[in-house]
Amino acid sequence: MLSRLLEIAYPPVCEGCGDAYYKNGIPGICQTCIDEKLFPQVEPFCDVCGQSYRGYMANQQCSNCRGRHLSFDFAVGAYRAEGEIMDWIHRFKYVHEIHFARTFGQLMTRVWEDSRLSHFDDWTVVPVPLHRKRLRERGFNQSFEIAREWVRHSPKNKQLRIVNALKRNQYTTRQATLDRKERLSNLKGAFAPAKHMADKLKDAENIIIVDDVLTTGTTASECASILRETLSPNRISVITVLRG
Ligand SMILES: [Zn+2]
Ligand SMILES: [Zn+2]
Repeated sequence: MLSRLLEIAYPPVCEGCGDAYYKNGIPGICQTCIDEKLFPQVEPFCDVCGQSYRGYMANQQCSNCRGRHLSFDFAVGAYRAEGEIMDWIHRFKYVHEIHFARTFGQLMTRVWEDSRLSHFDDWTVVPVPLHRKRLRERGFNQSFEIAREWVRHSPKNKQLRIVNALKRNQYTTRQATLDRKERLSNLKGAFAPAKHMADKLKDAENIIIVDDVLTTGTTASECASILRETLSPNRISVITVLRG
């Protein structure tokens, strides 16, 4: 009751336009800004990384993925990494505005439009881990927070199970500050199985790795390769709020 009254007195403000708005389903952003300021990934897109493209692409693979070995089967990004949402991602991760987890987790439910995901119900959800030191600095793991909101707002969410199956050993330079060549080699040996990973995931046939942004796919691929070293899941997919 009190929160309802507070909401009427101080309606939530949209991050995109600053206007007050009443609940439209996604906290932090009004429907007009979703329609006008965000760019959904729409078909046709790269079969591997989910980047949408215009025109012709050989074998449905973009220039990022062609000729590379990536350890996941496919990735689905909800939106393109461009426009104002880039600034929100920055505020979320580096200015500790954890409230964005709700916005991003719910925006990410778009990925269910991809039949490669919606065809199966029993996904085990593995967030990309942070190094202990980074976790202390930031206070939260953005991938886990997004994953939790995404699960909460997904259809058939009872069948989705989040497992912190991986740990990060290297306190690596932020991928965002590196160029492409450095990104591709920065993460060798960065991840390892968390305690009891094999037990926790022994029946997992379908695994979804969750991250905030997919750029070259190297982070997600390194995580997937650790999972494949000890387990034999039928498929490993990756979902992110942004692909770009
Ligand atoms: Zn707005
Ligand atoms: Zn691609």
